[in-house]
Amino acid sequence: MLSSKGSLAVFLSRLAQFAAPDALLEQYPTDSEIAATILWDAHMRGEIAGRRVADLGCGTGILGIGALALGAAHVAFVEIDARVLPALAQNLARLRDELGDGTGEHEIVHGDVSRYTGHADLVVQNPPFGTRDAGADTRFLASAMRAAPLVYSLHKSATLAHLTRVVHTNGGRVLAATRFRFPLKPTMSEHRKRIARIDVVCLRIARAADGTSQASPPARPPAHAPRSRSPR
Ligand code: SAH
Repeated sequence: MLSSKGSLAVFLSRLAQFAAPDALLEQYPTDSEIAATILWDAHMRGEIAGRRVADLGCGTGILGIGALALGAAHVAFVEIDARVLPALAQNLARLRDELGDGTGEHEIVHGDVSRYTGHADLVVQNPPFGTRDAGADTRFLASAMRAAPLVYSLHKSATLAHLTRVVHTNGGRVLAATRFRFPLKPTMSEHRKRIARIDVVCLRIARAADGTSQASPPARPPAHAPRSRSPR
């Protein structure tokens, strides 16, 4: 088990990435520093060690593997694109080689997140932002909130007001919205600049205890977060 945020960031930075990212599936990997910040924060709250975690739209697995590196008991990796599964397997092998057999268990679920029926204590996800696959962000949020009572989910900042309403509709509330500048590495041909950065927000979401939206406060972005009138 890794014992500092710095060592987690270094470990995650060495993982294999998408070999040939698919723009339609919005295959943009989470930056290792950002992944380490989100996971370490959750770890400090006692939300990872010994817990069951699901990484929806896991890609090459950086978020779920980070959770295993911090002592998660079990991680479900859910991914629709079979082409990325070899890199995920390679990264899981690296985890075992470097951190030993003491790491938790995992399962790999190949399929559409909308059909995922598993349950966990926590979902950590960096889903498509819905830019190419309209509504994908909303579908991932609904799936995550079905799967676990606590969710960390990365999204485009511009969609915050819209997503806050989606969270409320699904019977939850946004506990915190942490902003990041997300580097989009020039791995896809459409990116002309060397490294573009976009404003991303990590939502920390709790499902209401009785699962109804009535139990949640009104849908309104947190006070410290930017407000946007347009849904995207
Ligand atoms: N979570 C990874 C990958 C982010 S990119 C990371 O943080 O680096 C989004 C991922 O979601 C891609 O791997 C893409 O193939 C996957 N994906 C897109 N639509 C999906 C769907 N409907 N069901 C499951 N996975 C999906």
